[in-house]
Amino acid sequence: EKLNLVDMISGIKNRLEPVYGRNIEVHHEADFMFVTADADSLDQLLKIFLDNAYKYSSEDININITKDKEFTRVDIIDRGIGIPEEDLGKIFNRFYRVDKARARKTGGSGLGLSIADELAKMNDIRVSVESTVDEGTTFTLKFEHGKEEQDENR
Ligand code: ATP
Repeated sequence: EKLNLVDMISGIKNRLEPVYGRNIEVHHEADFMFVTADADSLDQLLKIFLDNAYKYSSEDININITKDKEFTRVDIIDRGIGIPEEDLGKIFNRFYRVDKARARKTGGSGLGLSIADELAKMNDIRVSVESTVDEGTTFTLKFEHGKEEQDENR
């Protein structure tokens, strides 16, 4: 279905901020930024990235919604512990957790990102990650414009 990411992400922000006791700052280029995806999948997917941003950082979380010719893009940005480069290729694997000792403190099964990866594939969403240890992590979701949206952008 066609979803306005701005409404969807505002809803998630309002739901999670009181739970986390932290701000989720949302920046969006426009008030209507439509993508095609299943609403429940997208909600679940975003919650996995946000829960991780919350667990592995102690500051506010930022979400940027932008678009270019090809993609609508959502960046979920935390300023937390980061992920070592050698682990970046493995975090989407089932049960993989970086450094068991440090992970034990936060708890978790190591399943979240493998579920997110499957949900993304089912909805044609591309996921990528950039991270620097002790600085933070950005997960990026990219939605390719559908035919109608491409026409609108011409
Ligand atoms: P759960 O399945 O309960 O979410 P989890 O957080 O351990 O547990 P994943 O969500 O699959 O599992 O994440 C896998 C690993 O990737 C985590 O254990 C953590 O080491 C690392 N990771 C994921 N997101 C972040 C982040 N935003 N900052 C730092 N490390 C992260």
